[in-house]
Amino acid sequence: MTGTQLIRFNCQLNAKRAELLRSIHTLRNSMAIDNRGDSLDRGRKATDREIVLQNLSLESELLRRVEGALQEIQEGTFGICATCERPIPNQRLQAVPWSPYCVSCQEAEEVQAGFGMMASLGGESAHAGSRSIRSS
Ligand SMILES: [Zn+2]
Repeated sequence: MTGTQLIRFNCQLNAKRAELLRSIHTLRNSMAIDNRGDSLDRGRKATDREIVLQNLSLESELLRRVEGALQEIQEGTFGICATCERPIPNQRLQAVPWSPYCVSCQEAEEVQAGFGMMASLGGESAHAGSRSIRSS
């Protein structure tokens, strides 16, 4: 991978990190507001709160991955699959730059973790990415 590519991924990841930090901040604020609400629609608020908590945990996980990828850029190990240690194809990195795995290791993990959760973490676009690799 060239220095220019790394700089571009670094920019992309920093932008994603800022976006996630903003979003997590907003989610936390919305929970604080919920806590002050009256008790009449407590049931609905409890459901809202669960959704917010779910989003918070997904975004925190994604943030963890983005920060991990930024760390890898610093250490010079960015773009290497964390499981099989082979280089991750460029098309995949462009689609999901924070993914620590290549497509086949990601798919293996999705089977273990349950697809729904992984899809929200970029599994969906990872699949779109793998399709475009095959068709090109
Ligand atoms: Zn792999």
